[in-house]
Amino acid sequence: MTLRELRNFLKENGFPPFRANQIYRWIYQKLENDPEKFTDLPLSLRKEVKNRFIIPSLKPLYIQRSKLDGTVKYLLQLPDREIIESVIIPDRERRTLCVSSQAGCRMGCKFCYTGKGGWRRNLEPWEIVEQVVVAVKFLKRENLRLTNIVFMGMGEPLDNYENVVKAIKIITEEEGLSISPRRISVSTVGIVPLIKKLIEETGVNLSVSLNAADNDTRSLIMPVNKKYPIESLLQTLKEVEIPRRKRIVIEYVLLKNVNDREKDIENLKKLLRDIPVKINLIPFNPFPGAEFERPDDRAVLEFQRKLIDSGFSVFIRVSKGGDILAACGQLRGAVLNEFPD
Ligand code: SAH
Ligand code: SF4
Repeated sequence: MTLRELRNFLKENGFPPFRANQIYRWIYQKLENDPEKFTDLPLSLRKEVKNRFIIPSLKPLYIQRSKLDGTVKYLLQLPDREIIESVIIPDRERRTLCVSSQAGCRMGCKFCYTGKGGWRRNLEPWEIVEQVVVAVKFLKRENLRLTNIVFMGMGEPLDNYENVVKAIKIITEEEGLSISPRRISVSTVGIVPLIKKLIEETGVNLSVSLNAADNDTRSLIMPVNKKYPIESLLQTLKEVEIPRRKRIVIEYVLLKNVNDREKDIENLKKLLRDIPVKINLIPFNPFPGAEFERPDDRAVLEFQRKLIDSGFSVFIRVSKGGDILAACGQLRGAVLNEFPD
């Protein structure tokens, strides 16, 4: 429940709505799941909460920590035995959590390990929120705080729109986890009709997986392009209102000889000319059975340099957690320079 829903519930059941704030603080700030321990609540309300609600909690099945850079990856098993992954990525003063929005994904991008595996189901709002709670609990033991969240794990967030938006409302609630929407990034494959709505409703940062600079190439690697081709996507990016000093992040997975050619650079320059963007190049992370190759480092740097020379801000997303396979297509890479502040 969002805080507002909880307040309404309490009102309808004869309790003062402000008790909702206390309950939120117990669950999301003191990280306490047992209503009997909500000691500043009257006993009758503690009982009511205990009888009427489930306060779910997930225990990581498996935790791995990278010796190279401290990246932590864990698996969570959901009540129906679906398994999802989340990753905590430390980067200087920042600790970013990469969360999943669906079990699997039905967008079918050819370079994506999750996409190859197909769609299982949407995650419930609590299953998204709980990924954050688990990370917050984990970091708290080391006296660290979670600073950022990226929706870049399994699944397409805008294909599970209602649940993702509700989860964001819960995660950003000041009485709760209190993570500002400015510190949350949602990455989308480009479900055009929902992009503006998402930004208006939540105020999060927007990342868009462009991954190709012409429709033929994009349709080949991203079937969603047949429904929402590049022109419609870019038109929306021109119209969407983002805060001053913020920019849309364009993600571009570099696939050798597929989208890393000279003409791709020329097309990108034309496409992105009038849009306030930052480009994140992501060298392809190979996985078993993949039909693509990662360009060599020199080619990646060259691609970056040519775009920088044309006036764009271009970053190469560095993969982290290489030794624990956090870099396996989805749960990979820190988002360097994603957040200017
Ligand atoms: N469904 C959303 C968010 C999850 S994917 C989206 O597609 O944007 C997060 C990012 O990982 C996307 O930019 C996607 O293009 C990228 N990605 C997927 N598979 C990859 C791979 N094998 N190597 C590198 N990046 C990959
Ligand atoms: Fe789904 Fe994103 Fe993977 Fe495409 S890249 S299949 S949208 S998770």
